[in-house]
Amino acid sequence: MRQYGLGRTPKSVGISPKKYLLNTVFLPLEINLCCPINKDKNNIIYNQIMANIEAEVNEFMTKIIAKNPGESEFHQAVKEVVTSLMPYIIENPKYKTAKILERMAEPERTIIFRVPWMDDKGNIQINRGFRIEMNSAIGPYKGGLRFHPTVNLGVLKFLAFEQVLKNSLTTLPMGGGKGGSDFDPKGKSDAEVMRFCQSFMTELQRHIGPDTDVPAGDIGVGGREIGYLFGQYKRLRNEFTGVLTGKGLGWGGSLIRPEATGYGVVYFAAEMLATQGKDFNGKTVLVSGSGNVAQYAVQKATQLGAKVVTMSDSNGYIYDADGIDAEKFAYVQELKNVRRGRIKEYADKYPSAKYFEGERPWGVKADIALPCATQNEINEEDAKKLIANGIFCIAEGANMPSTNEAIAVYQKARILYAPGKASNAGGVATSGLEMTQNSERLAWTREEVDAKLHQIMIGIHNTCVKYGKEADGHIDYVKGANIGGFVKVADAMMDQGLV
Ligand code: NDP
Repeated sequence: MRQYGLGRTPKSVGISPKKYLLNTVFLPLEINLCCPINKDKNNIIYNQIMANIEAEVNEFMTKIIAKNPGESEFHQAVKEVVTSLMPYIIENPKYKTAKILERMAEPERTIIFRVPWMDDKGNIQINRGFRIEMNSAIGPYKGGLRFHPTVNLGVLKFLAFEQVLKNSLTTLPMGGGKGGSDFDPKGKSDAEVMRFCQSFMTELQRHIGPDTDVPAGDIGVGGREIGYLFGQYKRLRNEFTGVLTGKGLGWGGSLIRPEATGYGVVYFAAEMLATQGKDFNGKTVLVSGSGNVAQYAVQKATQLGAKVVTMSDSNGYIYDADGIDAEKFAYVQELKNVRRGRIKEYADKYPSAKYFEGERPWGVKADIALPCATQNEINEEDAKKLIANGIFCIAEGANMPSTNEAIAVYQKARILYAPGKASNAGGVATSGLEMTQNSERLAWTREEVDAKLHQIMIGIHNTCVKYGKEADGHIDYVKGANIGGFVKVADAMMDQGLV
């Protein structure tokens, strides 16, 4: 057998990079590599390929870390993407020459501003506002606003970077952005939230517009906040446009938008299960979070015959062995959306449930996990517990809920695993549908929007299969989503020149 010497590329030994890579099936660096030439990991060819890719990734990441110090979530998100994209970039050197990855990791524009407001006691409060306009190659910037005390530049850059690929996967014409503030809506009165939103929008309105940048909700930004933000935009600009999505139904919102992310996660997971001849019926499901995404993931999974046994918030989780049925679900909605209470109260109300303070639900035995709370809520140890407890399908509702170490555990176990940028894209996709309805000045029915959302999730799944299916039939959804999302944006950037 021919062997590549140190420092020699496939080209130097007489085969094209494409053939070289087509003849090998890459998995993330930490895991296996199936090589049709020789599957022995001691094989010098295997080691050389891995060393070349690893060197490229390390060189790239060294520059990213030096240029963006202290932004650990951003480093994590970029590393996950670059690791799975690098073989594809090597195979398609035009993207390397044009420095597409470097350009995608640098926001087109970063806006940081002061948000002063007055609390109910007459005290002056100062928060920091952000908008990251990451990439507009395929459409106006689009992505949510997050109001949470943990918000900082690194968190929003990670979210904006992921958003670019996610929006591309939906096939709708939306670029990527993200914004928010370190403001904490918890414990604030409606009047305080309104004054904060008005101050935030007073600055943000200079930078957004229906053809420029269209924000939406995220953690801490729901219907109430979107209402106050929209009201202030309209007042300052004297125009009624689709500048925000997630609007109220009576003033330009779309049916199904509140449900879309949670429903979309379950639609996507159903497609994943179908690749193995399985479905939700009779399965036990773990959900984390109890906000917008979690609630509608619970509802749709239950409608499909599953038993959802957990929900959580930042204080702890509840385990209800009998499952969260429609009546209990209505209680959660009232608790969280109207009374803005804590999930602990669920266990006070229903004796079938237990509450676990300060814990996350990943030690519970089940079949499917839908993490729907926040980033890095599943670490390596949690991931091992999930696998040991029989979980065979994980679809992420939250953005980056699994650390890269946790992802390595899933991939080694070869379970069905979908990263958020694929499985939670239903929210932004339906925001895209809201934009279309606003432009047409029409409102589609619930059934129409739901059917379109369902089709989009099936389409994203097909894209992941196209780019992520391996020789043995296993689907690497991380690779599929990253390459599938990347190609459209990268090609648009190439077409539009060096801007
Ligand atoms: P919500 O604010 O409605 O709910 C967030 C939930 O997560 C709450 O239960 C909250 O608990 C919990 N949570 C937040 N921070 C933490 C933390 N540090 N530790 C533990 N739990 C926490 O937000 P969404 O449901 O809209 O968003 C949830 C996730 O889904 C986020 O990752 C978001 O980026 C992602 N996402 C949302 C989309 C959308 O359409 N809304 C679209 C795509 C992705 P508590 O009340 O105690 O803070």
